Order: sequence, then structure tokens, then C-alpha cells
Amino acid sequence: MAGTSSTAEKAAHVSEHNRAMAEEIAHLKRARNAVILAHNYQRPEVQDVADFVGDSLELARKAAQVQSADVIVFCGVHFMAETAKIINPGRTVLLPERTAGCPLADTIDAATLVEWKRRYPEAAVVCYVNSSAAVKAESDACCTSANARKVVDSLPQHQIIFVPDRNLGHFVSRHTSKQVFLYPGACTTHVRLTANDVLKARNMYPNAPVVVHPECEPEVVDIADAVLSTSQMLRYVQESAADLFLVGTEAGILHRMQAENPGKTFYVLSRALLCPNMKQTHLKSVLMALQENRYEIELDEDVRLRAKRALDRMLELV
Ligand code: SF4
Repeated sequence: MAGTSSTAEKAAHVSEHNRAMAEEIAHLKRARNAVILAHNYQRPEVQDVADFVGDSLELARKAAQVQSADVIVFCGVHFMAETAKIINPGRTVLLPERTAGCPLADTIDAATLVEWKRRYPEAAVVCYVNSSAAVKAESDACCTSANARKVVDSLPQHQIIFVPDRNLGHFVSRHTSKQVFLYPGACTTHVRLTANDVLKARNMYPNAPVVVHPECEPEVVDIADAVLSTSQMLRYVQESAADLFLVGTEAGILHRMQAENPGKTFYVLSRALLCPNMKQTHLKSVLMALQENRYEIELDEDVRLRAKRALDRMLELV
């Protein structure tokens, strides 16, 4: 019992500490005229101090709408903060943890994409938003997991180079008549979910819908009930009559699912569905970002303008 009480004391201490830090963040946010945006995969306490929580598409839209704030603190990974800067260059954009990158985005650079363009000269390039500004600058249009198929279908070219996520590209290629050339990148977190994990969970909860992200491997996607972006998942679980769900995406999404659906139960399909990069940002990081103006995103203006064209093409469409 002594162990239980010390665990409870520790938890109370942590929540008191977090509450004090959240208050300081709120104070600094007002003083600096800042807005905090957080991705659905962020830590629960970070999501709770954000003005807006969403997926890549929602956050890109939100970043575009920020007019009255001077500073955008972007709690996510590097390409997301870069996207906010591309869209809204007049604001100071801060990424609280300098090394919060995305291994998927890092699988391709601009020079490699230029080579692919030479190899398939008739093809248009669609790049998943999980990519650097330099890669976006070499692309015809960006997409997110919520609109990838729509973006691919909107382009006049029949041939499409899809970068960098092979699984999202493969998912799109099944639902379009276009010829899609897949770049072999993948999300190091989502590929950890196996078909065996899904089958085991289904055995235990045969009536629970299985919802997975299209960054998962095709054999996982094949046996899911729904393949959705995180914002689509949030809508799906709200509208569904089921009361228990098996979720195949980064575990951070469960915080919002649970908060928005208190009567329902959510299980993540594998303990391996944790992105270490998304978890780098703590409350302390947000506080330090506001206190010390760190880490500011800066972009070459030519790259920014070319990357913006690809992002605008997506944002105009959806
Ligand atoms: Fe990148 Fe995957 Fe982490 Fe998202 S979950 S930031 S795609 S590594």
C-alpha cells in the first residue's frame, strides 16, 4: 500500500507542477500575443494548453487563418512548423523542440525527387505534407492523408509520382485510375503495427470496429473496417453506434477520442504505436519556446514561394 500512496502522491505532484506550468504558459502567451497549435499525436498535457488541436490538414488551415497573433508556437514535428511558416510568413513560427523531426519526411530530399522527375518526365508530383519545404518546392501539389486521393484525381496528368509515404501512395493507387509511382518511404511508427496485432485484438473484441491510418502497411489496411486520417477517425468514432474501438494510429489520438466520447472505450492496437518525435515536446518545451523565442523557423524565400504553390493547390481544392 505504501507503493500505491507514493504513486498517488507523485501523480498529484506532477499534476500540480503541470498546472503551474500551464498557467505560466497562458500568461506568456498573452504577453507575446501568441497562439499555440498542437497535433493530435502530442502529449495530453501539451494538447490541453493548445488553442487548437488537429491533424496536418486542419493545422495547415488554422495556420493560414492566424492574422491577429504575432507568434505561432507549433507543437508537432519540424515539417509542420515549416508548413505554418510557408503559409503564413508574416508570423514568427516556433518549434519548441529543435530535434523533433519526422523520419518519414527525412527519407527524401529535393535532389532525389529531381532525379525521379527526370525518370518520369510525364508525371506530376504529389507530395504528402510530411516532407521538407525543399521537397514541397519540387512538387506540383501537396496532400494530407485526409485528401490524398482527391488531390491525385484533381491533377490533369495521368502519371503521378507520389512521395514520400509508400503506404499512403499505395492506398491512393487502389482508388484511382491513375498510374502511381511510389517512393519507398514509410512512417517508422505506423509500420510497427502488424496484421497479427489486429487479428489478436479482433479475437478479443470481435464486435469492435478496427480503424487504422493509411500510413499502416497494406496487410493491416486490408483487414481494417475503416482507413482514415486522424480527423476522419475522430468523426467516425463520434458518429458510430459502437461503444468500443480498436485504433491503429499514434496513441496520442486517444486523449481527444476519450475526452470527446466519455461513454466509449478506445484501445490502441499496439503499444509500439508511439512516435518518439511527437513525444519530444513537453510543457517545459512550450514554456521555454515562449520565454526564449525558440526555435524559430526560417526559410529561403524562393523555396518558400515554390512550396507555397504546392500547398495552395491542395488548400484551394479541399
Ligand atoms: Fe513522422 Fe510517423 Fe512520427 Fe508522424 S508518426 S511524425 S509520420 S514518424
